[in-house]
Amino acid sequence: MQKSKHHFYMEVLAKRIMFGDTEASAIQHELQRLEAGFAGEMKLKQTLSDYSFKTDHHVLYNFECMNDKGFSHQMDAILVTPFFIIIFEVKLLSGVLFYKPAQHEFYRIHNEKRENFRNPLDQVYRHQLFLEQYLRKWQITIPVYFAVVIANQQAVLDESLENFPIFHISGVPNFIENLYRNTAKTNANMNVIIAKLKQLYHALPPRRTISSIRLRKGVLCRWCDYKNTMHYYYGAFICNVCKAKSRDVVFETLYHYRILLGEKISNRQFREFFGMTNIKVCSNILSRLGLEQRGAKKGTYYIIPENILSWSKKKTD
Ligand SMILES: [Zn+2]
Repeated sequence: MQKSKHHFYMEVLAKRIMFGDTEASAIQHELQRLEAGFAGEMKLKQTLSDYSFKTDHHVLYNFECMNDKGFSHQMDAILVTPFFIIIFEVKLLSGVLFYKPAQHEFYRIHNEKRENFRNPLDQVYRHQLFLEQYLRKWQITIPVYFAVVIANQQAVLDESLENFPIFHISGVPNFIENLYRNTAKTNANMNVIIAKLKQLYHALPPRRTISSIRLRKGVLCRWCDYKNTMHYYYGAFICNVCKAKSRDVVFETLYHYRILLGEKISNRQFREFFGMTNIKVCSNILSRLGLEQRGAKKGTYYIIPENILSWSKKKTD
């Protein structure tokens, strides 16, 4: 199960945003929301793994793509069986949830406060229409259903939600059983559907950008939860606070740079981001790392690969 690019981006941004930035706390909240969402998807995955399916099946988690009109779709899970397809939307909402169907209004009452929400039923219905349209295009006939799954046990679902496919995560097996009972096997080829979906898949870019001046510079100490900066000393980085010493942190810092600012880095950009001043020392670090080098002389820059984090394992000397 893969986190979205946006999730990776926010993870790094939360560590790097200046302490006093006006958006600092909003960024932490957004990250918490993404982490909660991911935990919810993990719970769905556990529930589906535990369930004994009556047929072959395949689940695509965190499915992202663009539609013909340039709008994005992000589906928490798509379950494909030879009988039907189900799109799952996982929600971690607390409080008491209510629905006014005629108005399509979805709200909750939490701590005596009433709060309107983006309607998750309409949200996933939009995915259903989209998927049905593509299946028609592919000339595949199979019913598509959807369910909104509440992953937070403490949430209370009001009776007004009774006739809609929204329920606690423990209700997932029952929902699937009912569909097996009430639908017939189709002639649709599951493997074709999965292959088509994988072709359609398109990882969405992060939903925001940041200017470099709003970021904390330097090698941040992982052992101090990224609160303190490490200093370069004879080939390694050292934290003055916890005394940690590491050569590997350079890979993590390059990863931060790649996620937030892009894959290209010049000597000057390296010095700026790492908070170092000595051109010669930085040249040595950069060439020793063995990054792909492009351009010449003053235009020289390096490419930080996507898997830079895994380099720390193979490249430590
Ligand atoms: Zn430290």
